[in-house]
Amino acid sequence: MDNEKTDTGKKNVFRFALKLVSRFLIFLAALGFIGWLVLTKMENLLQNEIENFVATHAGITSQIATERFEGELVQLSRQAKLIESNLIPPEQMVQSVSLGEPGVTSGIYDMAGNLIAGIHLPEDARSQITRTRTGNKVVGYYDNFGIVMSVPVIYGGNVRYVLYKVYRDKLLEERFFHIETDLSKNILICDTSKSKVVVPYSGYGKGDRFFDEELNLPKGYNAIIEKLSNENSVALYSPVIDRDYVIFAAEIRENFVVLGYVDWNKAIGGIFEVHRIVVWVFFLLVIMFSIFVLYSFTAELKVAESDELREAKDEADRANMAKSEFLANMSHEIRTPLNAVLGMDEMILREVPEGSQLKTYAWNIKSSGENLLSLINDILDFSKIESGKMEIVETPYYLSSVLNDIFNMMRFKAEQKGLEFNISVDESIPDALYGDEVRIRQVIVNILNNAVKYTQKGSVTFKVGWKRSADGSATMEFSSIDTGIGIKEEDLPKLFGKFQRLDLKKNRTVEGTGLGLSITFKLVKMMGGEIKVASEYGKGSTFTIILPQKIEQYEPIGDFRKRAEEFINQQKAYRESFIAPDAEILVVDDSEMNLFVVENLLKKTKIQIDRSMSGKDCLEKIAQKHYDVIFLDHMMPEMDGIETLERAKTLKDSKCNDTPIIALTANAISGVREMFLSKGFTDYLSKPVAGKDLERMLQKYLPPEKIIDEEDEVVEEIPENQIEENPEPAPEKSEEKSYSDEVENIDVNLGMQYCGGMEEMYKEFVKMFCQRREETKDKIENAFNTENWKDYTTYVHALKSGSLSVGGKILSEQAKALEMAGHAYFDGPEEEKDSQLAYIKENHSKALELYDAFVEEAKRRELFVEQ
Ligand code: ADP
Repeated sequence: MDNEKTDTGKKNVFRFALKLVSRFLIFLAALGFIGWLVLTKMENLLQNEIENFVATHAGITSQIATERFEGELVQLSRQAKLIESNLIPPEQMVQSVSLGEPGVTSGIYDMAGNLIAGIHLPEDARSQITRTRTGNKVVGYYDNFGIVMSVPVIYGGNVRYVLYKVYRDKLLEERFFHIETDLSKNILICDTSKSKVVVPYSGYGKGDRFFDEELNLPKGYNAIIEKLSNENSVALYSPVIDRDYVIFAAEIRENFVVLGYVDWNKAIGGIFEVHRIVVWVFFLLVIMFSIFVLYSFTAELKVAESDELREAKDEADRANMAKSEFLANMSHEIRTPLNAVLGMDEMILREVPEGSQLKTYAWNIKSSGENLLSLINDILDFSKIESGKMEIVETPYYLSSVLNDIFNMMRFKAEQKGLEFNISVDESIPDALYGDEVRIRQVIVNILNNAVKYTQKGSVTFKVGWKRSADGSATMEFSSIDTGIGIKEEDLPKLFGKFQRLDLKKNRTVEGTGLGLSITFKLVKMMGGEIKVASEYGKGSTFTIILPQKIEQYEPIGDFRKRAEEFINQQKAYRESFIAPDAEILVVDDSEMNLFVVENLLKKTKIQIDRSMSGKDCLEKIAQKHYDVIFLDHMMPEMDGIETLERAKTLKDSKCNDTPIIALTANAISGVREMFLSKGFTDYLSKPVAGKDLERMLQKYLPPEKIIDEEDEVVEEIPENQIEENPEPAPEKSEEKSYSDEVENIDVNLGMQYCGGMEEMYKEFVKMFCQRREETKDKIENAFNTENWKDYTTYVHALKSGSLSVGGKILSEQAKALEMAGHAYFDGPEEEKDSQLAYIKENHSKALELYDAFVEEAKRRELFVEQ
């Protein structure tokens, strides 16, 4: 079951981790996509930026070229002016234009197209001359010839000649229009009308990186010229053309453009650095963001894991709670019938003469019952400590009283086993201390009990010493020294572990659970103390409990031994017997059976006992009569013991204002004693009540003048005839009877067990139970009809234990289920309230029918005769 849970837990965490990883991958992919988008955008921007930059450069370059062209034209125009003003005749001017300039020639045409002087122009240049005749300055280029510039020569407002100048193409690059800038040496001038390179740079042509052999033009020529159709100066970065260069172009004048290449790195310059930084920063951001996301994902994973852990812990806590509740319920369930068994047994012990076989049986029942009770108490304490519900309750107390009780108990036990019991108490110990008396008593009894248990011959010594601490408190030292079997050295570390029993070969016959020392260890620790052990295997052991205690008063305890002896003598006198015929007590309990037990246990004390079966009735009784002691049950319908006590204390006309009220309850969970004392009870007795405890309590609280020692009287009073009638031991007798068959509703054997095998008593109980049928059913029915679920739960609780004591197992189970639903209705989760009520409503009548069935069967089997 637990393994299954852990497996599902692991699977859940794995599934969650898978989800996180896939989310992380999706996130990374998204981040990558965004990164790619940003980079592309950046590159586009960068490219635009470079192109703009280079285009500007193209503009500047074109300006340089234009100025060159215009400079030449201006000079030619000036020479035309000289002809116009008749200062120089045309023929002479032609000579002077080309004078001293190798590669430059010139000429002049008249309006009829006749060459007046100079060289002839090629045929295709005629149109240029025609255009100049209309008054335009024109520049043209002709293959295998060169650049021709022509200007009109004007007389009286009319063009008379056309003067022109030729720059021969062979020398264009070397001498005339070659341009270079800081950014580029690869600059060309092209004639777009002829798609021709007019002025190349040096090295342009075959084998050059910018020469496109296919087109016989510069690489990227068409693309850049096309781009130029919309703007004056353009640049283009295209890895297809050349990935290391940006191509640019700009217009110079009609048909002439300047075109060139700029090294990409030179163009990009600082911008590239910025770009690089931006890219780095972006990647850094991506990495940091990824780390952050990864971190938050793992944090989420951890949260998921701790959620799992928390759930597992809650589950474990719930299981632990269920365990504690189960143990608490179980203790109650076991203690109730055990109460009856031990109570009846006590009665047998009192009424059976010494030497009878029956007495031996009764002693056996008593010792096993008490063992069982101490086992239940151990398990309860242990479960309380485990679930952290055990509290240390400190109050003032007298150490002498604690030591008295312990001395009494242990001396008796040790002597029974033939061991010597010694006690040595430092006379200077302050008697009035402040601490948890109950737990101190418990831990000391535990180590002394063990000493007696694990010692076959010799002695057990109980030593009490102390030291005054610096802060004025006392450090108590309680030691148990025995001459028993001792503990092997290798076993010492295991000693205080839970359920640890050592040396099982030797201890086979010694009863124990291995819980005692574990509880002792934890309790001592909770009280701020420590426990030490020294042992020699085969020789004996010494257990020492060291406990800090506050001091209430410094008055020393004195000769404790003497006081203890005196006390024992007193006790002895008491234990022998006492009667108190003038004493009047009231016992309040809603269970008739419990009243019956108490009355019987106190029969020989001759105390006058009044019984009361509800809180209300109790209040009426104390208003009318004075009682010396009141025993008040806790769990009762309508008005429980605590409420009854509270009302009794404020009752105006109460005749019992000073009467000690002692709580009597089957709720065995430790800690209730403190609860009852804090609620105002004088003392507390837990069921099952031993006759001795009941008498001790009465001796403590009855007025001393009403207690009379009657040592011998009691034996004489035992109604021996009752025993004579049933000389056989009870269990054997029950075996002879035919009650052993399992019948539907009544388990007679079980009922007989609760009555110590006494048939008469069992029949008496069955009779009581059957006679109360109508009354009980009415109460339950009434609470059901008025939806008083609190009372309802209390009534079915009583029915549960009542029916079980008479063997009504099935009825008891049914009542128990209803009681559980009732408790869960009040204390369980809100959302389950409806279903608890639904359960009660559905099963209520079944329980009542089972009660009828029980009575019918009892009649049929002659367990009960209706009168
Ligand atoms: P148990 O119920 O078995 O007595 P405890 O927790 O009280 O459980 O003790 C654990 C074990 O320690 C015992 O089973 C016994 O073997 C050993 N032990 C305890 N006290 C003594 C002692 N005084 N002498 C020898 N052995 C002891």
